[in-house]
Amino acid sequence: AKNNGRNNYQFFTADMNARASERLSIEANMRDALSRGEFEVYFQPQVSLSHGKIIGAEALVRWNHPEQGLIPPGKFIPIAEESRMIVPLGNWVLRRSCELAAQWQRDGLPPITVAVNLSPLQLHQANLLELIQEALDIAGLDAKYLELEVTESVVMQEVEHVMTMLHGIKQLGVKLSLDDFGTGYSSLSYLKRFAFDKLKVDQSFVRDISSDPNDAAIVLAIIGLGKTLGMSVLAEGVETEAQLEFLCRGETDSIQGFLFSKPIQAEPFKKLLMEQKQL
Ligand code: C2E
Ligand code: CA
Ligand code: CA
Ligand code: CA
Repeated sequence: AKNNGRNNYQFFTADMNARASERLSIEANMRDALSRGEFEVYFQPQVSLSHGKIIGAEALVRWNHPEQGLIPPGKFIPIAEESRMIVPLGNWVLRRSCELAAQWQRDGLPPITVAVNLSPLQLHQANLLELIQEALDIAGLDAKYLELEVTESVVMQEVEHVMTMLHGIKQLGVKLSLDDFGTGYSSLSYLKRFAFDKLKVDQSFVRDISSDPNDAAIVLAIIGLGKTLGMSVLAEGVETEAQLEFLCRGETDSIQGFLFSKPIQAEPFKKLLMEQKQL
């Protein structure tokens, strides 16, 4: 059938309107959702390639919406950023993650690091260091088991303020990792100015390492760079044995990806940790 341009256009605007109203309803619902307890933290294991065990977990937030079901962060985090809801939401994720990590230790599980995403707006809170210390104190978690993930975009503005904050975080004894490495603009100058504990190689580079020689070369270069600067290197989005094999040969320190596990709820994650303890 011949394409009708007008119908296509009408379809397109209807879709746009639907999206705009979805957006508004998400924004309006988010604050209530937080107080109603509709958000939940999932955990994705981070596995050491030297001994194959879980050494950490990234905390990834999910929204259990009463009507729409499980909403992935891709749908609400950008809206939360624009409406500044990411500040209370991010602080809640931080507290909840510390609480669970401390609970697992008290339950006798091997201690792991919990990695929490920190949005640029959170870094601009004047009392961020107090909030972090408070989350650790309330949970009873040693600072060395908390890692905060920041992306390169955080230093696009107000570099001095951000650097001061990052140094303050390190002084608390909390670890810092540079997330989505390679996707931003300021990668190298950023690395020179601040000593991160960990570099997370973005999954867009990892995807084709076993088939694309350019991606393979980039990942090896990033690993080398990280090591030279004294950082540990984690590869994100590892889905296949072939990728794993490549990363092992390239001496990546740790991996995270669907090959080992998707992000899962706290209870199954705890079981995973427990099973590995019996090995
Ligand atoms: P991110 O920080 O880069 O998190 C990694 C994302 O990659 C997660 O998506 C995870 O589920 C996904 N992933 C992990 N392994 C694989 C794999 O092997 N293959 C593929 N295709 N994907 C994989 P998720 O959970 O949907 O989160 C998306 C983004 O939302 C995160 O990207 C992060 O930027 C943001 N986000 C999630 N939770 C929070 C939070 O609590 N605070 C903030 N500020 N941002 C968050
Ligand atoms: Ca992350
Ligand atoms: Ca990432
Ligand atoms: Ca990302």
